[in-house]
Order: sequence, then structure tokens, then C-alpha cells
Amino acid sequence: MTIRGSCECRAVTFIVEGPLRPTWACHCTQCRKTSGHYWASTEVPNARLKMIKDDGLKWYRSSEQARRGFCVACGSSLFWQGDGEDTISIGAGTLDDLSSDATKIEKHIFMADKGAYYDVTDGVPQSDGW
Ligand SMILES: [Zn+2]
Ligand SMILES: [Zn+2]
Repeated sequence: MTIRGSCECRAVTFIVEGPLRPTWACHCTQCRKTSGHYWASTEVPNARLKMIKDDGLKWYRSSEQARRGFCVACGSSLFWQGDGEDTISIGAGTLDDLSSDATKIEKHIFMADKGAYYDVTDGVPQSDGW
């Protein structure tokens, strides 16, 4: 299974080789700030993400343990990567083909940081940390 993905303006485009991990929705403060809400991502081993165009890709060091990839032209939140990890998280909404439910949200993480302005009532497991 090969899925294409991109940022909103397509200055960053990529191909992901499946299978994709089910999506985790992260409600931590960093995800909230960088995305404007909570951030939902799937994940693959690094080797299965192939960049087609990365003109707009910039990495932001969001903590001592991780960096986030975003598009400098349109601001899309694209990637999250822990230092030294052999996997990369990819914003689920950046994929072009969302017709498969294989990436459906499997859990909500860092619920302890969640804002009070919304509720999570989809019945999917929730945790205060990972
Ligand atoms: Zn862009
Ligand atoms: Zn987060």
C-alpha cells in the first residue's frame, strides 16, 4: 500500500509505504500549539517515508527529545520525530487518500494536557500520558 501525502500548499510532498500504524490523537500542549488543536498522527519506520519534494520542509526543535517538521510556506504540521528513533509520526490529515479506515484513531494520549474547550466522546481509549 502506497499513499501520497502533502502539506496544504504542496511545497512538501511525500510517499508513505504502508501498513500504517493506527492514528493516535495527542492532546499535549506542544501538539495543541503547533496545530491549533490536538494533533492526530499515524507512524511508519523512517525507511518507509520517501520525500518527493521538501522545498518547504523545516524542522523545529520542540523539546529536548523531539523535533517537528512543518511547511514554511503554508504552516502545515506534518511530522514529529523523537531523537534517535527509527520511526516517524505523520499527521494523519496530511495523507491524500483517507478512504481507508486502517488509520482510524486508536487512542487519545496526553489527555492530562487537554483544553477544557472540547470533549472527547468517541469511546476510544484515553490516557494521561503515552
Ligand atoms: Zn505547504
Ligand atoms: Zn503531543
